[in-house]
Amino acid sequence: MDSILAYMERYDYEHLFICQDKTLNFKAVIAIHDTTLGPATGGCRMWQYGDEMEAIEDALRLARGMTYKYAAAGVNLGGGKAVILGDPHRKDREPVFRLLGKFIDRLGGLYITGEDVGTTLKDMEYIRMETPHVVTLPSYLGGAGDIAPMTAFGVIRAMQACCNKVFGSNTIDGKVVAVQGLGAVGHNIVGQLHELGATLIVTDIDSQKVNNIVPKYNVKAVAPEEIYDVDCDIFCPCALGGIINDETLDRLKCRIICGSANNQLKEERHGDLLEAKGMVYAPDYIANAGGTIFDTDRLETGSVNNERGKERVSRIYENMEKVFEIAERDNIPTYIAADRMAEERIQQVEKVKRFVVTPKT
Ligand code: NAD
Repeated sequence: MDSILAYMERYDYEHLFICQDKTLNFKAVIAIHDTTLGPATGGCRMWQYGDEMEAIEDALRLARGMTYKYAAAGVNLGGGKAVILGDPHRKDREPVFRLLGKFIDRLGGLYITGEDVGTTLKDMEYIRMETPHVVTLPSYLGGAGDIAPMTAFGVIRAMQACCNKVFGSNTIDGKVVAVQGLGAVGHNIVGQLHELGATLIVTDIDSQKVNNIVPKYNVKAVAPEEIYDVDCDIFCPCALGGIINDETLDRLKCRIICGSANNQLKEERHGDLLEAKGMVYAPDYIANAGGTIFDTDRLETGSVNNERGKERVSRIYENMEKVFEIAERDNIPTYIAADRMAEERIQQVEKVKRFVVTPKT
């Protein structure tokens, strides 16, 4: 990125806030992309960046990603993101996160933060001491608590829509699913897919996680590198980004790729190549929105309600169907159709917002 303002102009950003405090060695960036649908919302990442431009670029890129994620999910929130520059393992968490809370509070609700890479629910509690504008909170503080089971449920709803598209029925029973990564989301996916009658092949670089899952659900495990080669109907990446790449693409034998991992396509052209091979790709931010849909539901309604939250997450099925419709309508791959769906919703809501409500006398 050569010029911050040129980058912001190109992708239509609203704000960029840079925060620092010398005594606490605190440096953070808050990026606000688009607030057409509602306050800019997105987690706070803590990371040791190479330099400050890298941090700014990451905050801007992630904030824009959140705009698309919420818009496509039908949630009335805009896109924002905070990043704290520095060692994610630094010990002085309370002053660091309370200070970030102060900066967020100054924005008066323009930006709502949450947990992300390098931050924890405990850090969110510190932020909550200084501002109400934080969404990811433990249940004892009125938050949704652990959202991974809902992320997993949302991925499975997307998977069912993909099955309907490919096999003409949304049933998971009897499908062979290869799950890469058995962490917070992956292990929940395995449990839920097992209930639905899938045959599972799993892997993780952490052998302890594999050893826990295999006997529990009587599933087959393979070495991490072998997961791309297994015969399966669905490949479900729940570990890292960039796993659909030049090296793996020709090895995959599945009909569907649907998982929770962010940024699954190493480059956009890999989405085109999947399409050309006749594989159905569930765009990551459509499939993995369940946790965030569940988590932010209380912002609109004032309280956590599992039944209502689950119902909203369940609509990821319809969101996937809409992605397929747009892909067919415009003859484009699904990863582009997802962006188009988000952009169309923002444009439509912008039009609705033009109408002024006459004040009641
Ligand atoms: P996690 O850290 O709990 O689990 C990731 C797992 O992947 C770990 O068990 C790790 O050992 C394993 N792993 C790492 N590299 C691997 C490799 N090369 N092969 C096999 N396994 C490997 O993370 P998570 O919360 O379960 O999230 C998984 C993915 O989903 C991430 O990309 C995350 O960004 C994304 N995601 C998570 C959520 C959520 O609710 N937690 C929501 C949206 C997106």
